[in-house]
Amino acid sequence: MVQPRYRSRTMRRVFVRTPSGTTLHYRRRKNAAPQCAQCGGVLPGVARGTKTQVRKLAKSSRRPERPYGGMLCSPCTRRTIIAKARSHLQ
Ligand SMILES: [Zn+2]
Repeated sequence: MVQPRYRSRTMRRVFVRTPSGTTLHYRRRKNAAPQCAQCGGVLPGVARGTKTQVRKLAKSSRRPERPYGGMLCSPCTRRTIIAKARSHLQ
């Protein structure tokens, strides 16, 4: 029997080929894809993976380097910036 912490489906099960045959390994699942704060769509250009994998990347490769990068998708960013500029004039 496996260790009790591996009996739940929290960890992903991966069959790994080893010289002695196939063994079952337990790996962490990827985090959910980050979503846009306005429309809820999946954010493109934002790193996905386990927490450790994402942390190892450079900050510039984790999310787009622009205002609202990693928070809003590009159409929502465009709309927000235009709306802010228009409201600022009045
Ligand atoms: Zn959006």
